[in-house]
Amino acid sequence: MAKEEGRNTTRFFSPQMQARVQAHAEMEAALRQALDEGVFQLFYQPQFCRDGKLVGAEALARWPVEGGRMVSPADFIPVAEDTGLIVPLGGWVLDTACRQLAAWQAQPGTRTLSLAVNVSARQFHQPDFVLQVTSAMQRHGIMPSALKLELTESVILGDIDETVARMAQLRTLGVRFSLDDFGTGYSSLSYLRRLPLDQIKIDQSFVRDMLDNAGSETIVLAILGMSRSLGLEVIAEGVETEAQHAFLLEHGCQRFQGYLLGKPLPLAAWPAHWLDSCAGD
Ligand code: C2E
Ligand code: MG
Ligand code: MG
Ligand code: MG
Repeated sequence: MAKEEGRNTTRFFSPQMQARVQAHAEMEAALRQALDEGVFQLFYQPQFCRDGKLVGAEALARWPVEGGRMVSPADFIPVAEDTGLIVPLGGWVLDTACRQLAAWQAQPGTRTLSLAVNVSARQFHQPDFVLQVTSAMQRHGIMPSALKLELTESVILGDIDETVARMAQLRTLGVRFSLDDFGTGYSSLSYLRRLPLDQIKIDQSFVRDMLDNAGSETIVLAILGMSRSLGLEVIAEGVETEAQHAFLLEHGCQRFQGYLLGKPLPLAAWPAHWLDSCAGD
């Protein structure tokens, strides 16, 4: 209970908390309406391999509101998770991503590109999640190996056996998995060994600090070494400077994503040279 409340109050919420609850409720209503009206967009951030060729992208949700402003996913994803709206929203993201993959797979120049989609823990643990993914893939007739689902360590907070089984089911179909924001969550090394992963994503907070902070440098080097021993591909997110890129290259990082190489953009706004550098045939 807030200090300034005084002794005789029966309110449970401080004014600040009430404002927050109200803002949350307003955002929930606005989210619901935005979903109904289909105003969400996907932006695509390019991912490159060691020799600078484009290998794929990460799909990132955007919510455009009045005045050309975009509400950040950092603000609306948590509300979508709390309210369960992440399930329809995540379904729309999956469908849209699979449609884009189908378009890439229909063109010789972009056939080999992969697309990473963020999946919330709550979405992943829906009973029909596997069905949701397989129907989206079938609807658009895509090659499953091009779809990469990004999970965070929070999925493991659920039932680890169920998580492994569900991942294995999708992986049998060819779908790939990346562990997002690695190092910021709770996972232990034994979990890491049990999860059927293809890729580990070094969190941008470590990339940001690694050249100035010995602790972050140690963590980045440990993740690179560990991924190599486990036979997992490793991608760095949040690469913003040439110096960070050079350091990661020198230490064997395989994939790179960040403002230095390209910001998330609608596909129509992608500069031609990204697609021209596509690694595939
Ligand atoms: P994330 O999956 O870790 O995505 C990376 C975030 O870092 C993105 O923020 C991206 O725009 C940003 N970023 C990329 N490169 C750089 C860089 O060089 N420097 C800096 N400072 N930032 C960079 P964004 O698009 O705001 O998304 C934030 C988070 O929201 C994502 O983090 C992801 O967890 C979540 N999110 C976004 N779209 C979806 C979605 O469709 N579904 C779910 N469940 N979550 C989503
Ligand atoms: Mg991600
Ligand atoms: Mg991340
Ligand atoms: Mg992140």
